[in-house]
Amino acid sequence: MTVLCGCFVDGLWAINETANAWVWLRNRGWRKLDNSSTQICTRLLALAALAKQRNVAISLHEEQRGGDLVITEIYDYAAGGAMGPTEEVSFAVNECVYGWTAAYAQRGTHVTVRVRLVPDAGISAATMNTLRDTWRRGIEDKWSNRFGCCDSAGCDCRCALTFSVEWVDSNEHNTVAVHVGPSRSDMTNWDTMDTGDVASHEFGHMLGHPDEYPDAACPRRSPVSTGTVMDDNTEVVERLVRPFCDRLGETTSAL
Ligand SMILES: [Zn+2]
Repeated sequence: MTVLCGCFVDGLWAINETANAWVWLRNRGWRKLDNSSTQICTRLLALAALAKQRNVAISLHEEQRGGDLVITEIYDYAAGGAMGPTEEVSFAVNECVYGWTAAYAQRGTHVTVRVRLVPDAGISAATMNTLRDTWRRGIEDKWSNRFGCCDSAGCDCRCALTFSVEWVDSNEHNTVAVHVGPSRSDMTNWDTMDTGDVASHEFGHMLGHPDEYPDAACPRRSPVSTGTVMDDNTEVVERLVRPFCDRLGETTSAL
């Protein structure tokens, strides 16, 4: 079974026979709709027709049956859909004098980091609520929907890479102490003055990326002054998300 997403339907074919309907996927060709039952086939055809009419991308499962590639599921139009099993990933990162453990969960092209925030005494629940919102938006807006993964057949169907942070009380990938700001932040110490951009940088460490700004303690650091999120909290570039497509055996491309 293959999971595809970001596919466009450019053509439909059906005939007055039981469960015999086909879909033309852009640049890929004809796919038969699952004919295990008339009900399934009809439902898939209705979804495919809607996708064609609206010219929106779909996610789907397909499998080889005899000589035909058969679509067995069509998901909603959002990237993602049912993307297979979740893989818990964790590995040691060592850069110069710094070392930490990167950890996250990857399900298809969706990456989640579970973070337990532990605020210092005196930081109110209301402040924490505001910070959780700010930091989540900063992280998810910065990392998500910039790049996608393309399967070996080409980039006609492309799954957007999306990232999320989950604030949890247990089963965390990372514990982050929250201090009253301003103070110096790192991956596991944030403060109340930290912006969403700062959080998006620390999130990059959780994904396994070292800093990319000049550091007297690391004179041989490379690359430096890259103008990316790992340098100045700004941009996510392709090489920072490539490992997630590599893990799926797919190539990375800009959306
Ligand atoms: Zn950093």
